[in-house]
Amino acid sequence: MISLEEIKRLVGPNGWIDGSELLQRPVDFWNATPTQALGLARPASTQALSALLAACNRAGQAVIIEGGRTNLVSATLANPDTLLISLERLNGVSVPDPHAMVIEVGAGAVIEHVQAICADAQLRFGLDFGARGSATLGGALSTNAGGFQALRYGVARDQVLGLECVLADGTVLSHLSSYAKDNTGYDLKHLFIGSEGTLGVITRVMVKLHPKPTSSNTALLAFDSFAHVLEALSTLRRSLNGTLSTFELMWQEFFEFNVNALLNGRSPLDIGHPYYALCEVEGFSPDTDGETFQTLINGLFENGVVVDAVIANSERQRAELWRIREEFEDEIQAFTTMVDFDVSLPLQQIEAFSDQVRVTLDREFPENLGLHVLAHLGDGNVHVTTGLPDAIRKDELKRCIYQIIAQLGGSISAEHGVGLAKKDYLHYSRSPGELATMRALKRALDPKNILNPGKVIDLAG
Ligand SMILES: Cc1cc2nc3c(=O)[nH]c(=O)nc-3n(C[C@H](O)[C@H](O)[C@H](O)COP(=O)(O)OP(=O)(O)OC[C@H]3O[C@@H](n4cnc5c(N)ncnc54)[C@H](O)[C@@H]3O)c2cc1C
Repeated sequence: MISLEEIKRLVGPNGWIDGSELLQRPVDFWNATPTQALGLARPASTQALSALLAACNRAGQAVIIEGGRTNLVSATLANPDTLLISLERLNGVSVPDPHAMVIEVGAGAVIEHVQAICADAQLRFGLDFGARGSATLGGALSTNAGGFQALRYGVARDQVLGLECVLADGTVLSHLSSYAKDNTGYDLKHLFIGSEGTLGVITRVMVKLHPKPTSSNTALLAFDSFAHVLEALSTLRRSLNGTLSTFELMWQEFFEFNVNALLNGRSPLDIGHPYYALCEVEGFSPDTDGETFQTLINGLFENGVVVDAVIANSERQRAELWRIREEFEDEIQAFTTMVDFDVSLPLQQIEAFSDQVRVTLDREFPENLGLHVLAHLGDGNVHVTTGLPDAIRKDELKRCIYQIIAQLGGSISAEHGVGLAKKDYLHYSRSPGELATMRALKRALDPKNILNPGKVIDLAG
């Protein structure tokens, strides 16, 4: 184990929080138990981090890198001997380059802060999700986060042009290229994106930006069949020239639950339809975009694709529609032992998947407390949440749902990552050959297994 004196020397007096102080702090967003760890090191530069990791590697000291601790898969759960390393002091953000449309960002910068700086420069950072106010860019890249705009701008991985990263032995790999074309051998950055801090530590990022749209229109649509949902998604994507940024599908049970919980049952649309979609289009012709959107929605209505629709006519109404989609506090209360799934499937399999989940729950787990289904539909990403009266059959339920995913050719983790929570289920989506290759990469880059050991994949197999 590394000595505390050595850590303090390497990170300076402001760079250390003792393990005893961390006991005041919850583990992460979902886990309210106290953080148990050796302590928290807060290096202020890539060089300090490099020296710290080199010392940890020599001593065989296990470390876990922390961003905003908003991950949903127990990826930052430590034990009393683990050293936590936060990148919160590596949070510098450059002035956006308006010509190249890029910005250089420290891994510890909070997503919402990066979004605001880009917006001030009339540029758009293409990543957005509910934890924007706490999650960091380093954390979002390490989990390859998705969110609400992936339909238009892609996932976290797609926002990156260049990356600086520190390996377990302290080696700094700095490749902060600001151009799109760079075929100089293996594209190493993609190894670290999505690897949840198990292969290296991301310190700086060259982020690709987009022109900031100048108009925004939001609608809530109701459908009577899944085939019509798919038709509307396809029509909106084609007819809006790629400016559709959000298509969030809510199944009836979730929609009605949140309308009752949040709006005292005052639904913006008639209830009783099997599907509701929150759509947002962001364009560049503020004078005509609203009318174009309205005409399209009218067309969908006249053709019987959409059975009911409302277009937000104020920012307040838009916020109310988003509340129905985003809030989950009441769901947490209602579901006692919450069991949630973040999966993806081929678009054509999503209806079959949700039907099979319903049947499985009702037949095998009649004690379930409800079934809420949501989808970032354009990405094939489905969020399923149910509740059980206690945790006794939780693992059994997970295996049942992941078996359905495997049969339908889907992924057991669409956007939240693997961490500890999904490690035991990885084989439902990855072949033995793929798992062996992941182990080989981990052994090559982190031979002493000091980086987030025991997360994502076990070396022993
Ligand atoms: C309310 C809420 C809504 C959410 N909505 C979405 C959503 O819509 N879409 C979505 O994709 N996700 C969503 N998430 C989860 C999302 O993945 C995380 O919020 C975020 O990506 C993690 O960022 P973080 O800074 O909190 O990282 P942490 O949680 O601190 O860390 C996550 C992982 O990354 C590693 N890590 C952190 N920083 C670095 C670094 N610099 N270098 C190497 N490894 C590092 C950690 O070791 C850990 O394994 C949501 C979470 C919450 C709480």
